[in-house]
Amino acid sequence: MDQQMREDLLKLFQTKLNRAMVYYLETCTRCGVCTTACHVYQSMPQARYIAAYRAEIVRRIYKKHFKGQGKLWPSYGEAKELTEAALQELYDAAYSCTGCRRCMVYCPFGIDTQMLMSIAKLLLVGAHAEPEILTLLADTSIEKGRSLEFFKEGFLQGVKNLEQKVVEKWKLEAEGKTVIPVDVEGAELLYVALAGAHSIIPAAAVFNAAGENWTLSFFEAVNFGAFVGDPTRTKLILDRIVNEALRLKVKEVCICECGTAYRVMKQLSGTQPFKVSSVTEVHARYLREGRIRVSKKAFEGQVVTYHDPCQIARNGGVLEEPRFILQHLTDDFREMAPDPRYNYCCGGGGGLVALGEDTLDFRMKSAKVKAEQVQKTGATVLATACENCHTQLSDLNRHYGLGLNVQFLTSMVADALVVS
Ligand code: SF4
Ligand code: SF4
Repeated sequence: MDQQMREDLLKLFQTKLNRAMVYYLETCTRCGVCTTACHVYQSMPQARYIAAYRAEIVRRIYKKHFKGQGKLWPSYGEAKELTEAALQELYDAAYSCTGCRRCMVYCPFGIDTQMLMSIAKLLLVGAHAEPEILTLLADTSIEKGRSLEFFKEGFLQGVKNLEQKVVEKWKLEAEGKTVIPVDVEGAELLYVALAGAHSIIPAAAVFNAAGENWTLSFFEAVNFGAFVGDPTRTKLILDRIVNEALRLKVKEVCICECGTAYRVMKQLSGTQPFKVSSVTEVHARYLREGRIRVSKKAFEGQVVTYHDPCQIARNGGVLEEPRFILQHLTDDFREMAPDPRYNYCCGGGGGLVALGEDTLDFRMKSAKVKAEQVQKTGATVLATACENCHTQLSDLNRHYGLGLNVQFLTSMVADALVVS
């Protein structure tokens, strides 16, 4: 690595050094409490998968380049120069961490490994050493925002093709109503789905059953900029949705079953005239207010458990709502142990599922503890509320032969709708 590149990367590092980050970089006492907190280490007990070890890779570069002692006396605290080899170590640490923050809730100092790994990911982006596919996907999303007119017609036709399936789930005649409204100025709620019918049909059925004044976003919720740890791309992708919500003057932006999209919109969209909700929160509200009714028949005789997506539950605070919904769907709900705040990551976050087959072997091995956690419940239905989690849990189901029916919570609600 030449000196110019190193200086450029260190400038990027500097942009991350807010008070919280400096605290994380300077606080670890190496007490080891986080060692077994990580699902990766529990499943594959190797030192490189300990949360504090991952953090140390970033910390050594910090000591070398940002601390006086490290500059003058590099062996002090194992300060380490930012080199090509160090970049490889950063890659290995960052792309074997799902950013689930389970280690953080065990650490007595609340050290946030996910935040420290965001430095690693940013340096990799700066060095063009990140997984290229994530950047390409992020750029595709950004381009879509810039050329809305170009794809609008195809999108509207695609949506039209889904209408009949929505009506079937809704179980009522549409009677001249727009089944999937798009671009409705003054709607109460903007629903931001993922690309794919599975993310639109059940949600549309529930919105219509609840009599919601809603409209579907032109944009898909997923934020590949966040997966790859690129703040500029993250914001550009986010801004497409924020601007659409402002243009349509909606009061609420409802994010589909995508954990990262929800956390990014909730935590990074700033102060806005609309509130941000997950679709799980909205469905729980409809049930609470009596706006929809569901029957337990659809899952009769089944044992149901729920996997909390890390970005929605531990990192987003949505813990009670899915349980409230499940109370209405089954008489045999079984909680996983340990309790939801300490729930194990599915093993697919942080962009690992988006990397597909390339990460499959690691994802399966590193989430063995998750497969065991699910199996101990005796469940036959495994519900979740995140696309990434659903994909990873389905892969685990096949790999470990768990014999589960892996379901999206939104689909379960839609399938159980009862017409009053
Ligand atoms: S954030 Fe999750 S995956 Fe990363 S080190 Fe902590 S427990 Fe492990
Ligand atoms: S629990 Fe916290 S302080 Fe202890 S080793 Fe892990 S990160 Fe460091």
